[in-house]
Amino acid sequence: MIRKYLRTRRERAADRRAIGTDGKRWVRSWINVYRCETEARVPHDETALAKLVSEGRYSCVGQSHSYNGVQVVPGVTAMMMREGGIKTLSYDPASETVRVGASVSVRDLKLFLRDQHGRGLHNSGNYMEQSVVGALATGTHGFGPRAVMADSVVELTFLDGKGQRVTLRRGDPEFAYVALSFGTIAPIVELVLETKPLESYISVSSMSRLSKLDELRQGGIAVNWAVMPYTDPDDPVVMTHVLAECADEKVVVAHPKASGSGKFAAWFLRHYYKLDRFLPRLRRPMQRFIDWLDLEQSERVITDPGDLDYLYDPRPGLKENRAPSITRGLFSTTYTGYNLAFFVPLERAPAVVKFIIREADALRDLGFFLKGIISVRELPGVAEPVFAANARRPMAAIDLFADPRDYAWLERLQRLVMRYEVDTRPHFGKSALGAQFRSSLGLDHLDQLMRIYERYFPEGNLMFSERVRAMFDVGRPLPGEAAADAGLV
Ligand SMILES: Cc1cc2nc3c(=O)[nH]c(=O)nc-3n(C[C@H](O)[C@H](O)[C@H](O)COP(=O)(O)OP(=O)(O)OC[C@H]3O[C@@H](n4cnc5c(N)ncnc54)[C@H](O)[C@@H]3O)c2cc1C
Repeated sequence: MIRKYLRTRRERAADRRAIGTDGKRWVRSWINVYRCETEARVPHDETALAKLVSEGRYSCVGQSHSYNGVQVVPGVTAMMMREGGIKTLSYDPASETVRVGASVSVRDLKLFLRDQHGRGLHNSGNYMEQSVVGALATGTHGFGPRAVMADSVVELTFLDGKGQRVTLRRGDPEFAYVALSFGTIAPIVELVLETKPLESYISVSSMSRLSKLDELRQGGIAVNWAVMPYTDPDDPVVMTHVLAECADEKVVVAHPKASGSGKFAAWFLRHYYKLDRFLPRLRRPMQRFIDWLDLEQSERVITDPGDLDYLYDPRPGLKENRAPSITRGLFSTTYTGYNLAFFVPLERAPAVVKFIIREADALRDLGFFLKGIISVRELPGVAEPVFAANARRPMAAIDLFADPRDYAWLERLQRLVMRYEVDTRPHFGKSALGAQFRSSLGLDHLDQLMRIYERYFPEGNLMFSERVRAMFDVGRPLPGEAAADAGLV
């Protein structure tokens, strides 16, 4: 155990030393489930990048925060885009759009927009260190209107296989494919995104039951809910979070504020959250206890227009700077859990969640426990990028968490859901990707994206992950993949 701890520390130190430098190093997915040692290059500017991409096989890495290893491609040169010097950031007041380079993080973009222009992004995920381009390329989303970040792209520029700039704009036939193309068209060097004014919202966070969901979402424009998977499988405990326009304050439904036993429950949950990480077997009895408490309570907050993470933590200031609260303590699996996610049609989400609860509970005696919650973020409306989760219809993003050593159980749950819900679509940074998604993404659309790839990268230098290659059905695994090295294929 001590040896393992010391080895991990050494690896982490080596990873830190490698940042910003060229040479051999490990590329690791978030939580380190996928990794490979590779030759890395840090593009200091676009001219250097253009030269690098025309030299040989390469792939692009943003911040390497995808869970599913979509950014981990063995045997080719990794362009470390987030560490590079492509840091364009400029705002155009006439079109209310922002131009952003491939090395800029979501945090830097949000700070630039808020502090210098009083503007914000239409939507975002719940973590800000990722590169803007990496986040958009994987279909990163929040919840509510314009939930998929890539839906805000109006123009993008990438370098083709010869290192030449190609710019596509909304309305161009190839645009809707390339705007969300999970590393198959790369490097994207610049994006232009729509922005919105900074606004306050009414945020109501409630603890309730799944059967009350329709009532609680009344008047809301953006809804997410988190289910405690070991509570009553027919009507589980949910924590809902509803955002409404301030003008609709009177329409929003809320339970009474916590008092008496409710306050005790809040205290209990805060401490439960601390224990939950270490004692997976206690998850079920703890959640059964919460089920027994049978709470109905709400917290109502008016969000600060300048709050960068109001979607996930409605109180002013950043949640990373604050101790956990009742409504978000159970969500915090960031550093301790593997996160697998996929999208199902919005109206099917309650049944899918109840199904997962039953399947997960049946695995208890094998030692598997879901971590904390099942999170459901609602993506209403329809987005323009062809591979956006909600390109065809409103969808719900289902996020499952488990201890990293248990991540394969999550893949099994994904497969089971896909057996019964054939319209399940992938999150390109969190799903277990593979051929099983071909029909829900559309064979024609996948072929069309491959034609675009072949048009701009006829040399075939740009490589993408084996799991994405399986999705496109484009041939045998490459050297560096165990299946190829072992002579299995
Ligand atoms: C703690 C945490 C919280 C998260 N929260 C959310 C959330 O709330 N909602 C959500 O939807 N997702 C969420 N995610 C997933 C995350 O947003 C995506 O996986 C995203 O890809 C990460 O961006 P990245 O810069 O790390 O990209 P990487 O993981 O490095 O790369 C992702 C893909 O983008 C491609 N890529 C990178 N740079 C370029 C480029 N310049 N040109 C072309 N292609 C490129 C890569 O080749 C790869 O295919 C979360 C992840 C973590 C770790």
